[in-house]
Amino acid sequence: MAAVTLKKVVKRFGVFEIVHGANIDVNDGEFVVFVGPSGCGKSTLLRMIAGLEDISGGEIAIGGKLVNDVEPADRGIAMVFQSYALYPHMSVEQNLSFGLRMNGNPKADTERRVKRAAEILRIAELMKRRPRQLSGGQRQRVAIGRAIVREPQVFLFDEPLSNLDAELRVQMRVEISRLHKELGVTMIYVTHDQTEAMTLADRIVVLNAGNIEQIGAPLDLYDDPANRFVAGFVGSPKMNFMAAKVVGNDGAVTVELANHGGARLRKPLSGAPPAVGAEVVLGVRPEHFFEAGEGDCDIAVKADVAEHLGSVSYVYASAGPEELIIEREASRQRANGDHMAVSIKAVRSLLFDKSGARIR
Ligand code: ATP
Repeated sequence: MAAVTLKKVVKRFGVFEIVHGANIDVNDGEFVVFVGPSGCGKSTLLRMIAGLEDISGGEIAIGGKLVNDVEPADRGIAMVFQSYALYPHMSVEQNLSFGLRMNGNPKADTERRVKRAAEILRIAELMKRRPRQLSGGQRQRVAIGRAIVREPQVFLFDEPLSNLDAELRVQMRVEISRLHKELGVTMIYVTHDQTEAMTLADRIVVLNAGNIEQIGAPLDLYDDPANRFVAGFVGSPKMNFMAAKVVGNDGAVTVELANHGGARLRKPLSGAPPAVGAEVVLGVRPEHFFEAGEGDCDIAVKADVAEHLGSVSYVYASAGPEELIIEREASRQRANGDHMAVSIKAVRSLLFDKSGARIR
């Protein structure tokens, strides 16, 4: 069993506390992705799990065993970094076997492990090459192979695909998913790329400034974000946020949009509605704008720029100071500052208070 448990984990660098009591339970065999903007502490969390960084408070357990004071090499983990860190003068085969040979692992077992890793990663035909004779994707496969041969209980990945071009990134993303299914071991993966998080994870941990904003399955975070930060971070293009004010709260809440000529939306809530007069924010995903007349509230915007991706089109629109991204059916129509009317549905919108907390 190799569950990974973090209890009230704190990290301080000098007087700066950068992880503020993280509680995370990664189940045995689960693929968990830590995601968040630059500097939020995700790499530091991963390095603390690996033992490369001391923890300032709390507990970390791997496979039910407290590892706070256990050396990295004895934690049953293997880590894959963004920089491949391959030995340039060694062949692929030697790179894969190096760690095991240094540890005095029996020769036959080392050969078996290297062969298996090469098969899993489909690099068997590259074994005699040096790193400089490999493509970026092949190098990253070798780096992952070095983790596989250790037969760890837990794989830790720190932005492993950041150095690859867009197409290769997608390819390697699928490879890593396949690897997880094949090996069935626990994987923890750090990225700032929300698409990578959405596509790889069983569960995502969204971090912001050293705090956990939400933990959940990708589509649960997408459909039911806990707050404005998560709503804005998960999804591409981003959710739109529209300034609004509460003008009625008789069972449902009625909000008036600040930049749309008094347009009003009535939205049923499950909890207590905010007070009349309260400033709120309405969140609408780009794909949740409908044809005028089809929703609960029509708004007029100015279509500034249109991007046609073939499958869909995105219209970058504005209304006063507010900028919106609106997904439309694919078209070739150019945007030239024309007015355009779209509609919002209460069930396809989210409400947040001024602090960013969700109003349900
Ligand atoms: P990125 O995506 O940019 O790598 P991250 O979320 O992985 O960001 P961390 O590398 O974990 O962020 O860093 C979190 C915070 O801790 C940052 O503000 C960083 O400046 C700070 N930090 C990291 N390492 C040290 C250190 N050795 N000494 C002091 N501060 C540090």
